[in-house]
Amino acid sequence: MIVMKFGGTSVGSAPTIAGVASIVMAHERPVVVVSAASRVTDMLLAGARLAAQGGDALEARRPVVEREHALLVDLGLPCDFFDDEFAALLDLYRGVSLLGELTDRTLDRIASYGEMMSARIVARVITDRGGTAIPVAAWDFGMCTDSNFGNARPTPEAAAATRAAWEALPAGCVPVVTGFIGRDGRGRVTTLGRGGSDLSASLFAAALGAEEIQIWTDVSGIMTCDPRLVPGARVLPRLSFAEAAELAFFGARVLHPKTIEPAVAAHIPVRVKNTFVPTDEGTLILEQVDGKFRRGRGPVGIAVNRRVRCVSVTSTGMLDAIGFVARVFGVFARHGVGIDVIATSEVQLSFTVVADEEVLGAAAAELADAACVTVQPERAVVCLVGEGMKTTAGLAGRIFSTCGDAGVNIEMISQGASEINVTFVVRDADCEQAVRALHAHFFEDASAASEA
Ligand code: ADP
Ligand code: ASP
Ligand code: MG
Repeated sequence: MIVMKFGGTSVGSAPTIAGVASIVMAHERPVVVVSAASRVTDMLLAGARLAAQGGDALEARRPVVEREHALLVDLGLPCDFFDDEFAALLDLYRGVSLLGELTDRTLDRIASYGEMMSARIVARVITDRGGTAIPVAAWDFGMCTDSNFGNARPTPEAAAATRAAWEALPAGCVPVVTGFIGRDGRGRVTTLGRGGSDLSASLFAAALGAEEIQIWTDVSGIMTCDPRLVPGARVLPRLSFAEAAELAFFGARVLHPKTIEPAVAAHIPVRVKNTFVPTDEGTLILEQVDGKFRRGRGPVGIAVNRRVRCVSVTSTGMLDAIGFVARVFGVFARHGVGIDVIATSEVQLSFTVVADEEVLGAAAAELADAACVTVQPERAVVCLVGEGMKTTAGLAGRIFSTCGDAGVNIEMISQGASEINVTFVVRDADCEQAVRALHAHFFEDASAASEA
């Protein structure tokens, strides 16, 4: 059995939903996991924020209603198909508007309707075409989570609950399960974090011992770089788990950074495929990659994380070096700020974060007695990844001279602890220039690629 996850663009229009139905029906009883139609989660959350500022509930709901309505019309489905969901959303927006208060818990509840509507629509289209499918809310497929709203994780009982739910389905019936969402022990809706449907799919696959996880999206696999940034990016036919995990962690949005973990633990291959061109091979992610799929020993891909901030914390000498690092990280952790690239010296600690100014200001205030904190906004983290990189001499030199030749100044460097990446920070304004030059050097220039 395989688990097939379809992302937002795959379920975002009538023709693509029809395409999804054909792809699903060509497989022997898969578990199907769906995201909200593209832009719907953003619309749901924006509506919630509007309502929290006292906006009109009908106005807050309008973009989602229009978007989903258009889908129903294009698919020839009844216009009242989503009446229950629309009514529930209106109630929620009214409540938020009345109270002027918006918690993470309420945001999760509101966001969940995007996936709920997708599951119903996809199951209906499959059934209308002669298949047997039912929409299943994630909590009816075992997704019990902790109560960490906005970033929930499954509880230890979840996997067994998923197996029980799968076994209880009517014979031959394909479940179309909502990605991204779950429910905590008290029955409250949670979400796994933005882009989390990939993770839902891999958790279900691990629980059921699936043969393969298929992530169906709008590109033909994981590519050497985001094709929106580098038009010449090409598909990577094979990647190792470690490479895919690093690329995802450092910003390759095509996979949620946590997707790979359950797959690795359960030894399940992950395939990334294109809903728009299903005949394309896609990318297969395995524990180890056969040498014939490697062109050289250099990087296999470049990931980019934009709109990062670079924080420098300079000690005022009140703490020794060890106490200083521990204190700084402790304060930022307490404020919920994740730290990515780190560089240290005797008196200074620099690192990159994705956090807003307000949170950083609060952390800086807490450190005021022992350190001076400065923040540089509009930075980008660029990361080159490849299993072969750990054994290849001179790569860092080539990476940095390529950036230098392109006129890009490098601000911070880190050789990833896993040794399969080299990561550095540049000004966001320089990021495209740097990435295009590196892509041209490592992936478009044949002599450089073979040298790698
Ligand atoms: P979905 O809605 O299917 O989950 P996403 O938008 O989350 O799709 O991910 C697909 C997008 O990821 C692509 O359209 C592409 O712009 C972006 N992307 C970023 N890095 C890469 C990469 N290395 N390879 C392929 N796509 C990438
Ligand atoms: N719909 C959710 C989001 O937009 C989850 C997902 O698409 O994976 O973040
Ligand atoms: Mg995604």
